[in-house]
Amino acid sequence: MRVKAQNASYFLKFEMGEELVSSLTEFATEQNIHAATIQGIGALRDFELGYYALDQKEYNRRKYSEIVELISCNGNIAMRENKQFAHIHVCLGLPDFRAIGGHLFSGIVAVTAEVLLHPLPERMDRAYEEKAGLFLLDLPVWKAF
Ligand code: ZN
Repeated sequence: MRVKAQNASYFLKFEMGEELVSSLTEFATEQNIHAATIQGIGALRDFELGYYALDQKEYNRRKYSEIVELISCNGNIAMRENKQFAHIHVCLGLPDFRAIGGHLFSGIVAVTAEVLLHPLPERMDRAYEEKAGLFLLDLPVWKAF
């Protein structure tokens, strides 16, 4: 990976063969980033997507091996049990120009990935929510409902 600091943000250029999710997590951990937003484009191969089935409280997971356009990658970094956790969703373009997408568990960079990581000043944590069956952002209450 190559990195250029851009004011308070980082522009990350991933090399072919790097795994996107673990590399982002590792970068945030090494830079001591406790909250960030992420956006990116590029190409992936050998990736695993998830669709969260709320009624089963489980991800339906599917692995793919083809090379796809990383049309859009959005997500964030927050702390989960005191460790950096990257939550990333993607929209991916197939060779026939159809799109697929979902929660990204992992993906190997094909060609490149160009990612803007924007650290936020205040730490964010995730906490387990029984209702969802997931670690969701644990933010202060603005208005109870
Ligand atoms: Zn997700």
